[in-house]
Amino acid sequence: MISRRPALDFALASSLAITLVWLAGRAHAQTRLPESFVYLRGLDGTIEQDIRYASYDNFVGRPLAGYEAAECILKREVAAALGAVQSDLRASGLGLKVYDCYRPLRAVRMMLEWTRDGRAEGPTKRFHPRIDKRALLAGYLAANSRHSAGTAVDVTLVKLPVAAAPPFDRFARYGPCTAPAAQRSPDNSVDMGTGFDCFDAESRTSSRSVGAEQQRWRALLAGAMAKRGFRNYHREWWHFVYAKTGPAAYFDFPIRPMSAKEKMSEAVSDHRDERTRYAASMTVVQNAIQPVGHVRARIPPGP
Ligand SMILES: [Zn+2]
Repeated sequence: MISRRPALDFALASSLAITLVWLAGRAHAQTRLPESFVYLRGLDGTIEQDIRYASYDNFVGRPLAGYEAAECILKREVAAALGAVQSDLRASGLGLKVYDCYRPLRAVRMMLEWTRDGRAEGPTKRFHPRIDKRALLAGYLAANSRHSAGTAVDVTLVKLPVAAAPPFDRFARYGPCTAPAAQRSPDNSVDMGTGFDCFDAESRTSSRSVGAEQQRWRALLAGAMAKRGFRNYHREWWHFVYAKTGPAAYFDFPIRPMSAKEKMSEAVSDHRDERTRYAASMTVVQNAIQPVGHVRARIPPGP
C-alpha cells in the first residue's frame, strides 16, 4: 500500500496541474481577441456605443448569438480610422455612435434563420414595415458580411454633449422605423429620417423621401466617413465598409466583455511607436494558448 502512495500523489498532482493549465487556458481564451482586432473603447472611449444586437431592440427581437457583451470590436486600422472621423467631427460639435461593428458568424446565421422561420412578424415588423421578412435576403441581409471580417461598421451622428435617450422598453409598441423620430424606438442620435436597420427604400442614403435636414445629416455622415476611407452602402445610410483592406477572413469568436488587462494594454499600446507595437503583438501571438476558431473565405462585394 505504502509503495503505491507516491504514484497516487503523482497522479493527483498531475491531474491538478492539468486542471490549472486548462483553467488558465480558458481564462486566457476568454479575454483574447484574434491578432489585429481591438476593442474600439480601448482606442477611443469618446465614440458612443449602442450595440443593438446585444439587446432586444433589433429586428430579430432578442440578443443575437455571440453577443455576450455590448462592445464594438474592429480591426485595428478600422478602429483607428473611425477615431480619425471622430476627431474631424468634434469641431462641428458632433460625434459618432456605433450600432454594430464586428459580427460573429453565428449571429449572421441567426439572422438568416429568422428570415426563414415562417413565424408571424409581430413587433419586429417595425424594422421592415413594407417588405416581407423573407425578401430581406435580397439587398439587406447577406450570408457574407464584412462585419464578420471586422471591417464594416454601422454608425450614426450624435450632437455633443451627448444626450441620454430613454431606456428601450421591450414590451412597448413602437412605431415603424419610417415613422417620425418621436414614434420610433428611443435613440439619442440626430434624426436620419429612419431608424437604424430600417429595411426600406427610405433608408437609401440618397433618398429624397426624407426631410431636407435628414438628407443633410446623411450627406454629412457619408462625407466625414469617406474622408477617412469608408465606403457607404447605398441602401443603408448607416452601413460603411473600410475600403483600404485587402483579402479578408470571416470570424466567429464571441464578443465578450473587455477585461481590465485589455483596457490597460490598449491604453499603453496607444502611446507606443509602431515598432514596439508590432513586437508586442508578436508576443501576444506567441503566447496564445488556444487559437480562436474562424473560417477563412473569399468575401464577395455586399453589405
Ligand atoms: Zn452594417
